[in-house]
Amino acid sequence: MTSSRVLVLNSGSSSVKYQLLDMSDSSRLAAGLVERIGEETSRLRHTPLHTGGESREWTGPIADHDAALKAVSAELAKDCLGLDSPELAAIGHRVVHGGKHFTQPTVIDDTVLAEIERLIPVAPLHNPANLTGIRTARALRPDLPQVAVFDTAFHTTMPESAARYAIDVETADRHRVRRYGFHGTSHAYVSRATAGLLGKDPSEVNVIVLHLGNGASASAVRGGRCVDTSMGLTPLEGLVMGTRSGDLDPAVIFHLARVGGMSTDEIDTLLNKKSGLIGLCGDNDMREIRRRVDEGDEQAQLAFDIYIHRLKKYIGAYYAVLGTVDAVAFTAGVGENAAAVRQAAIAGLEELGLAVDDELNAVRGDRPRLISPGTARVAVAVVPTDEELEIATQTYALVGKNVKSN
Ligand code: AMP
Repeated sequence: MTSSRVLVLNSGSSSVKYQLLDMSDSSRLAAGLVERIGEETSRLRHTPLHTGGESREWTGPIADHDAALKAVSAELAKDCLGLDSPELAAIGHRVVHGGKHFTQPTVIDDTVLAEIERLIPVAPLHNPANLTGIRTARALRPDLPQVAVFDTAFHTTMPESAARYAIDVETADRHRVRRYGFHGTSHAYVSRATAGLLGKDPSEVNVIVLHLGNGASASAVRGGRCVDTSMGLTPLEGLVMGTRSGDLDPAVIFHLARVGGMSTDEIDTLLNKKSGLIGLCGDNDMREIRRRVDEGDEQAQLAFDIYIHRLKKYIGAYYAVLGTVDAVAFTAGVGENAAAVRQAAIAGLEELGLAVDDELNAVRGDRPRLISPGTARVAVAVVPTDEELEIATQTYALVGKNVKSN
């Protein structure tokens, strides 16, 4: 392989996030985002990272993903290399749903594309957008290895006891209804980085990872392999999130339909977009919720308490699933930044060997760090996630292996 540069693409229905990394030293060369694709006021924001140059922003119509990637390529070409450059080793695509089938990052060919397409019924919001990004990138660079890195892959090691819902097996199998889990790239990266922080190999430690962003999920990782995670068939299950309800009695849905007269789509929107923190108090940004709590706002306090109550239940549940726990790791926007959330989630769990040192917890930083007292039996850590680096690492490892074996 002549080049070590990998472009990571995360394609949404009207957006493309990207990063260009040099895998010889895992450095970031550029990052950016195209938003509002298909509108008159599409926006491209590009930041050259290796030169420390200023971000550039451009607003105007970007009709589709093809135009978006061409615009990204032009920006990249200005300060490092465009999509057409022979210096590019591979493109790594984030793909949300890989079902049971994709347990590993996979080099994309027509068969792989067809399988990702087959999974659209279980990921109607995400897989079509991911596919559009892949198809566009392949059309622009048909010669280049392109790799799909699946959000679900890390969770495919879950035992059947954790992955199956207790419903009729035949119905479940016919409709591929099971617990898949998401945020897997982050859970993989953070559980490994937490082992590194403890000076151990991932195979030697049991970790509870709490990925708390606008979407939120927990996972129980035994010796580097996921044994349970809080998201299920879709990212709706589990923790209280920015706009998603997380766990609820499924009969709430029947009740809203029968008694509330709501349609399936209305309930879908309610539970995915108007619930969680925003449904409880009108805000989904933890900074704003904490500000309101500090001012004595009762609604914000209740939203915070419900969020913490659910989080604590998952910590307890995964402690029981794992039997012994070496570390609890907080990550993503809330987990990395909200000291109050970390403090409240761990408070009262001393009997489980869990504690937070207030001074360490207050320290800010972008490196993995311990926030538990030196005497604690179980480490509590803040481990910034890096999904782009993980996607680039997995992509580069796979492409490198293929080149060697050819
Ligand atoms: P993510 O989805 O990982 O990008 O996380 C986004 C969320 O992180 C936002 O909605 C905020 O609630 C939260 N967040 C970001 N910065 C902070 C901060 N300094 N304090 C508390 N929460 C934060």
